[in-house]
Formats: sequence, structure tokens, C-alpha cells
Amino acid sequence: MAYDVEKTDQEWQEQLTPQQYEVTRKKGTERAFTGEYNDCKKAGVYRCVCCGNELFESDNKYNSGSGWPSFWRPASDDALERHEDRSQFQLRIEVVCSKCGAHLGHVFNDGPQPTGQRYCVNSAALKLEEKTDPQQSTDD
Ligand code: FE
Repeated sequence: MAYDVEKTDQEWQEQLTPQQYEVTRKKGTERAFTGEYNDCKKAGVYRCVCCGNELFESDNKYNSGSGWPSFWRPASDDALERHEDRSQFQLRIEVVCSKCGAHLGHVFNDGPQPTGQRYCVNSAALKLEEKTDPQQSTDD
């Protein structure tokens, strides 16, 4: 498995906080309702905390009540990879960053329309890049 961004375990530990490292590189899970972005309604782009890959947009974020940031679609089709996860005696679909392999969370089929999908993502795997100029609304 080769990703565009590959680093050693030590390099990741130096770059990330202990929690970011545990979630993204060790497939950890932050406790529900504790993450920085669970209730966040700010406009912007959610990037991978490890490599900066554009993963989700605030326009596609919704309140699932799960306690983790939830999105009904990724920023683009190739932003994520989906892997079968058979841990914890159940089959879930893990989602990871397509550029660096960071564990993000899981995707479930109980999301809102039009996709019906719920991307349940750890805040610790994300870095919000806020839209800096809300006054500028033209597409020039
Ligand atoms: Fe990444």
C-alpha cells in the first residue's frame, strides 16, 4: 500500500498531538461529544490533519446526534478510501484519507438524502480551514 504522503511512525508522532496520532495512525476513536468540531457550524473546508487533503466541506455537514462530526458526502469522490473493518465483532466500512492513509472514521447507510450516507468522522482527524472573507460572495 503506497500513499502520496508516507512518513515514519516517529515523524507522525512529532507532527501530531498524541490524540491526533492515536486516532489517525492507530485507528483510535475520540469520545463522543468531546471533539472540537462536533458542534462546529463554521463555513469552510475540513482538511486531513496529517496531510492537508481536502476531505469534507462544511456545506455537507449535519447534526446526526452521534457525538461526532457527520457529513453526508465527501468533498470529492477520490478524497477517501473505504476499507472493510471487521473489528469489534461487526462489519463496518472504515474511511481513510486517500493521500496519507489516515484513519478518519466510518461510513454508515443511515444518513440523510440525497446520498443516504453518514460519514462519521473524528474531529481529531480534521483541520478546519475557515472561509476567511464572508463578504465576498461573487464567483469571480
Ligand atoms: Fe491525509
